[in-house]
Amino acid sequence: ESEAEEHDVVVIGGGPGGYVAAIKAAQEGLKTACVEKRGALGGTCLNVGCIPSKSLLNNSHIYHQILHDVKNRGIDVGDVKLNLTQMMKAKEQSVSGLTKGIEFLFKRNGVDYVKGTGTIAGEHEIRVSPLDGGEPQTLRAKNIIIATGSEATPFTGLEIDEKRIITSTGAIALTEVPEKMVVIGGGIIGLEMGSVWSRLGSEVTVVEYLGAIGGPGMDAEMAKTMQRILQKQGMKFKLNTKVMGGDVESDNIKINVESAKDGKSEAIDADVVLVAIGRRPYTAGLGLENVGIEVDERGRIVIDQEYRTKIPHIRVIGDVTFGAMLAHKAEEEGIAAVEYIKKGYGHVNYGAIPSVMYTHPEAAWVGQTEQEVKATGKAYNIGSFPFSANSRAKTNLDNTEGMVKFITDKETDRILGIHIIGPNAGEMIAEGVLAMEYGASSEDIGRTSHAHPTLSEAFKEAAMAAFSKPIHA
Ligand code: FAD
Ligand code: NAD
Repeated sequence: ESEAEEHDVVVIGGGPGGYVAAIKAAQEGLKTACVEKRGALGGTCLNVGCIPSKSLLNNSHIYHQILHDVKNRGIDVGDVKLNLTQMMKAKEQSVSGLTKGIEFLFKRNGVDYVKGTGTIAGEHEIRVSPLDGGEPQTLRAKNIIIATGSEATPFTGLEIDEKRIITSTGAIALTEVPEKMVVIGGGIIGLEMGSVWSRLGSEVTVVEYLGAIGGPGMDAEMAKTMQRILQKQGMKFKLNTKVMGGDVESDNIKINVESAKDGKSEAIDADVVLVAIGRRPYTAGLGLENVGIEVDERGRIVIDQEYRTKIPHIRVIGDVTFGAMLAHKAEEEGIAAVEYIKKGYGHVNYGAIPSVMYTHPEAAWVGQTEQEVKATGKAYNIGSFPFSANSRAKTNLDNTEGMVKFITDKETDRILGIHIIGPNAGEMIAEGVLAMEYGASSEDIGRTSHAHPTLSEAFKEAAMAAFSKPIHA
């Protein structure tokens, strides 16, 4: 075994939480290593999550648009054919470009990239089993940051093979378009990946246990609107429906479901079943037990407000601990955890973390939902503005069914939440996040000039609607 190397910080996991923490630590002058077992940096997000799914969402949208939407724009096209192999290659190109980019950033910032599985062997000791099968190596660290992320929650009774019974990892890599796809779980993964395969020609049925789609955190009115839009696009929904199990036969899969309301059962046929019922923290092989670090009943590593476990120099960030499982949330925590190490203080504003669902149109939100505000008992105003009254959305003939909705404090006009369904909602929400970071009122936004003709005028007019009246509706 080689001699133990001493680092100020060793980060375990090279996803958005881990790689950002490692770069930040190196920038702060700390001697830093990042241990990653995947063989590539970027974690779930870059390799099998955010990036490949968005590549497929973008390109399947273009395909769908050419098939169904360009004729009335004055564009006649000939034979349109799907080349799935090429679509997957385009996806792989985006992924490999970005993961290599992080490797380059590690070099530029002087982060030691250690390829292997890291196990916490002692309070200051990480044993690494190298990816290439060589001798185990020991790293010594003054501080350890755990950023080992999450994995798909399995569905008991349906064994994942990533070919016919798949998680999102299989859903970004299918080699042919299934005729019938059943999606278990109408959360973000179900709707994004369901959209991709629906656009490419699958008959997609989403089975959701709750009475609304969108997963936790989506405003109820937005969830209803989104469901209506996706239904028009051809997706089918079975809400309030429990999946009881499935029969996997050689040429067909039967998914047995039961209505949560009246107990009526039926079977839905599928060629491919996507299990998208949430993700769970990943700590296998991490060696938490060697140092007595605890996880809660959902497997999340328990930490305090400074991201410390009960061993204060071992900190935890990202999907493997509390909070929204989002890449940008993990990144913010990566920065804050390093600042705690270096300076003794750090900060993440959990009240202003945006969520984006990359369907078409996109859904995006920040702050509280209307149902959450209602539950607090606080008096509030709603200001909303439809894209059907926005000049740019009309000019672009681009999905005018969505809207911008502001929820403000009735007394102070301070913004409590913003919810958008519309083209480019994911970019537009950044303005709302900034407004909330600065404690803006809806009047601040309503009196700010927005360029004409842009979609963001709908944002301004929704703000105007919250404190006064919009002009164009
Ligand atoms: P991860 O990205 O999971 O990274 C953890 C890394 O640690 C992994 O690479 C793993 O190999 C490594 N690791 C684990 N254990 C060890 C060990 N013992 N030793 C060494 N290495 C180890 N979020 C968004 O914000 N926007 C999106 O559009 C989005 N789309 C998504 C789409 C899909 C299909 C999925 C599945 C997720 C998506 N997410 C999205 C969620 C996002 O991917 C996660 O929130 C994010 O990756 C969490 O980052 P992390 O650093 O905490 O963990
Ligand atoms: P999710 O929590 O968003 O949704 C899971 C859905 O499955 C919920 O609506 C839940 O009610 C339902 N469900 C649970 N058990 C069920 C059952 N037995 N039968 C039927 N329905 C059931 O989880 P997800 O969609 O799997 O996504 C996992 C995580 O990845 C999320 O935290 C999400 O934030 C993240 N992610 C984010 C993005 C993005 O930001 N665009 C994209 C993909 C994934």
